[in-house]
Amino acid sequence: MAVVKESLIDALREHFGFDSFKGNQEIIIKSILAGKDTFVIMPTGGGKSLCYQLPALMSPGCALIVSPLIALMKNQVDLVRSYSSKDNVAHFLNSTLSKAQIKKVRTDLLSGKTKMLYVAPETLTKQENLDFFRELEISFIAVDEAHCISEWGHDFRPEYRRLKEMIEQINDQLPIIALTATATPKVQSDIVKNLGLRDPEIYLSSFNRSNLYYEIRPKRKKEQTIREIVKFIHLHKGKSGIIYTLNRKTTEELADMLVANNIKAVAYHAGLDAGTRAQRQDMFLHEDVDVIVATIAFGMGIDKPDVRFVIHYNIPKSLENYYQETGRAGRDGLEGICVCFYSYKDVQKLEHLMRDKPLSEREMGAQLINETVAYAESSACRRKVILHYFGEKYEESQCNNACDNCRNPKEKIEVKNRVVVVLKAIQSLEERFGTEYVVNIITGKVNPQITTYQHNQLEVFGQGKEFDAHFWNSLIRQMMLEDLIEKDIEEYGLLKLTEKGHSFLKEPYSIMVSLNHQFEEDGGEDEEV
Ligand code: ADP
Ligand code: ZN
Repeated sequence: MAVVKESLIDALREHFGFDSFKGNQEIIIKSILAGKDTFVIMPTGGGKSLCYQLPALMSPGCALIVSPLIALMKNQVDLVRSYSSKDNVAHFLNSTLSKAQIKKVRTDLLSGKTKMLYVAPETLTKQENLDFFRELEISFIAVDEAHCISEWGHDFRPEYRRLKEMIEQINDQLPIIALTATATPKVQSDIVKNLGLRDPEIYLSSFNRSNLYYEIRPKRKKEQTIREIVKFIHLHKGKSGIIYTLNRKTTEELADMLVANNIKAVAYHAGLDAGTRAQRQDMFLHEDVDVIVATIAFGMGIDKPDVRFVIHYNIPKSLENYYQETGRAGRDGLEGICVCFYSYKDVQKLEHLMRDKPLSEREMGAQLINETVAYAESSACRRKVILHYFGEKYEESQCNNACDNCRNPKEKIEVKNRVVVVLKAIQSLEERFGTEYVVNIITGKVNPQITTYQHNQLEVFGQGKEFDAHFWNSLIRQMMLEDLIEKDIEEYGLLKLTEKGHSFLKEPYSIMVSLNHQFEEDGGEDEEV
């Protein structure tokens, strides 16, 4: 790449009119201009686009930007054009263009006027495009939303897996810049591996959103939960908020209930026609309604800076999803309240939704759900759990009471002896039974199967009958979080001891947990999946 003469800050002013760089932008841009493979991990709103846009404008040739959403490509290009006086500085190439439009794009590319070309992964699967790009001067390839390459990401796109081989066909020396807002350590290593990044410079920004308040509330019966939501919204009257639910029908029901309670609300889900969806999204953006009740179909690319609360009526299917969805609150840096209603029944619903998926997907899904359960049931600082999930170290003291657990620490109890009971029960059942059966044994409940197997003769039978099944279910979940036991997914959720569980049995130690029977109550019973 050619030597850059003008200073970066001058270029920033000239092209974008900004006076200073945000976060890691400058050092990232230097790395890109030096022709290095670069990996940018930055939360939404951090200013990722500029990281490749500025070097693209400063480098000879045109940068190719791979972007997964055709619908957003036009907006991105319009935005770039709005900073420039020349419309041909940026183009997009995807299946929505007519033959004449494609011809115009190609002419501009060949003339050297275009500095950024946004492409869908599909565009790169077409040989004629690859042949065309091979003849062009390309400055670098930017892969936006790079987490789409990983099955562990929240938005897996199989076409992303073929990017590396397609890029190599254009020119195997091109620097590659990967960008994402969502990289857990697992996703990160998938990205580096699948894009074949060569000794990349990795820039990881903090994911902490210090202006967001996180809270988990036990989900109770439907009417009660809705009453709580109505009360919450009345307390934040006139403020914008999003409520996420698992299914379409609930969005409608909930929106109706809110309207009946004098709250300006609409439902939003993928089952509505495109016109209605666009209309409702506009109503929300223009504040004709305060609250939008939506499935996760809502939110991608929505940039309303003053969303003041995000409520989850159902627990999301991964912590990553939760982070993204709550991340839509407080984009302007001001207050954002994130409340998630949690009941273990909703977890079972999520598990149920995966029942027909292939084993590998079920395994992955189950692990992601477990991490969400760990978050919901944890008594630790919510922020700490979230940031830990993103591989970031964080001390609870930094939270400033901006989560429910820091504000109202939960009471903990000693469970050493009871943990021993559970471990012994699982062991004497030879690790061949699931939670429900184990709990029946501990609480001394007889049923035909137990009688047939003569498990009522076991020493542990009825050893925990002073507590009810809710207690033991909750303890078993906590023990999974503590890595003392695990569920065997391949064999229908049979409970097994981990290595840590075995050593605990040999030498039990004090173990304090906060129990969450409250999450066992009626929450979500009356909602279908
Ligand atoms: P991301 O893609 O990481 O979500 P964007 O690229 O959309 O973030 O940038 C978020 C916002 O920050 C945009 O409105 C953008 O114009 C603004 N922005 C980016 N860089 C700067 C900067 N150096 N100074 C001021 N504003 C910036
Ligand atoms: Zn906290």
